Amino acid sequence: MATFKLEIVTAEKMVFSDDVNEVVAWGVEGQLGILPHHAPLMTMLQSGDLLIKKDNEEQYLAISGGFLEVRPDKVIILADACERAEEIDVARAEEAKKRAEEALKAAPARVDVAAEAALRRSLARLKVAEKRRRRPGTQPHPTKL
Ligand code: ATP
Repeated sequence: MATFKLEIVTAEKMVFSDDVNEVVAWGVEGQLGILPHHAPLMTMLQSGDLLIKKDNEEQYLAISGGFLEVRPDKVIILADACERAEEIDVARAEEAKKRAEEALKAAPARVDVAAEAALRRSLARLKVAEKRRRRPGTQPHPTKL
């Protein structure tokens, strides 16, 4: 299977760097699938779940906005924040979701861009954490008694 190099970076660290078969991200105009030899492209990303496919394995990461650039030699995602499924603190994301929903409920007539963005970030984290929980083979091995 053909591959391309994918790098995901935040201001804090390199989150991911590997050769992959496909990446599916949420661009501002909808979902965007990138395969090897994709034409050069630069797009803004919305917060959402990012799917990485490699050797028949699928991995999900939560992305909190940023940019995706397809270069001739690699694909780079510069994310405002990014967490692997196992890094996500579900209780924190639930709290963030609750806060954002309450802010939106408190002033329904007002456009609250910050609360809408916070809600989207929290939903992306919860979705990625949930996908990990459901995926077979990722549960911790039972410990021997
Ligand atoms: P909160 O209100 O809980 O801080 P937030 O959406 O405002 O959430 P961000 O500003 O997007 O948080 O992220 C700040 C830092 O905290 C980033 O490094 C991000 O990876 C991390 N982070 C945020 N929420 C979580 C979470 N639920 N689990 C793990 N890391 C998180």
